[in-house]
Amino acid sequence: MLKFVRNARKSTSTDETTTFDSHTLCFSDIQAAKMCLILQQQKESFPVEIDALSHNKQIQHSSKLWGLCSTMKRHAGFNVIESRGRVDSRVMMPLSAKCQLTKLMLQTKHEELNHIGASTVIGIIGQNHLIFGAKKELKRIQRLCTTCRESMPTLSNREWECFQTAELC
Ligand SMILES: [Zn+2]
Repeated sequence: MLKFVRNARKSTSTDETTTFDSHTLCFSDIQAAKMCLILQQQKESFPVEIDALSHNKQIQHSSKLWGLCSTMKRHAGFNVIESRGRVDSRVMMPLSAKCQLTKLMLQTKHEELNHIGASTVIGIIGQNHLIFGAKKELKRIQRLCTTCRESMPTLSNREWECFQTAELC
């Protein structure tokens, strides 16, 4: 989509530098699309933090990003928030599981990884992203997933109902 929009803008401009190659997808196009989506998710979840960091101001103490050495960094043409993990100081892009795009990302990862447990999904996604509320959202995904349900044949219908309505931690 991003590539399409950029090509459309080029084709309407008077600059005739557009070549045939610009219509094929390459690694940088995919990276740019990914960063565009990350920024969209961050704008939805951390608008105040983006505003503060963009103006070289401190993040408020009440923010989830406080104390994580957050900065704005340019990736593939988009300025996104980068934070450092509290445990190993790894640089990650913070997201919130309350955002619809992040929910879709977790759902996709859950399916890509063959419906594996929440901790493993978080461990793999956590190499690049710090997702607040990921565990709770992954447990919700598991509860609603028919494949996960079928992989637990030992549960009776009553036990499954209890599992589905159990309080999330
Ligand atoms: Zn599943």
